[in-house]
Amino acid sequence: MVKNYLYSAFTWLNKFSLTGIIRYSWLRITGREILLSGTCRNCGACCRRINLEAGGGWVRTPEAFNDIVREYPEYDRFAIIGTDTQGFLLFSCSWCTEEGLCRDYGNRLSICRKFPDTSLVFCGGSLPAGCGYRLSSGVPFAKVLQKAVKRLPG
Ligand code: SF4
Ligand code: SF4
Repeated sequence: MVKNYLYSAFTWLNKFSLTGIIRYSWLRITGREILLSGTCRNCGACCRRINLEAGGGWVRTPEAFNDIVREYPEYDRFAIIGTDTQGFLLFSCSWCTEEGLCRDYGNRLSICRKFPDTSLVFCGGSLPAGCGYRLSSGVPFAKVLQKAVKRLPG
């Protein structure tokens, strides 16, 4: 779907959707976590269709976006391209080349560096179609190993 940006610090209660909170709680109860696998295919889809987040919620209005740019001028690389099915603004990044590559990869935003963050699934987001990454739930190998070691005699 979209690249979801963690634009500023906020509490997880503000950040997560209702479904996300339920999913998060279920994972905690069952000892599972969201696991990230795969690699980037450099398709650029996550740079061309983006939700931005500010103050704990997805940006809905051009005014809210203007506030972001006033405070963080580096966000002026984003242009509004429409809205998604939930009414949140969609942006495209002008730094994305026709080939889907970042024009200045070394100086990309920190939110770009973090993508895809596993918290995406708790915020009502998902990976763009065709993305080379995959988010799934499971027990991390480190946890399995830790359990196995605890069971060892002595
Ligand atoms: S493969 Fe995924 S992370 Fe890489 S550019 Fe495409 S959408 Fe973005
Ligand atoms: S700055 Fe680069 S990595 Fe970040 S959205 Fe723009 S093109 Fe993509």
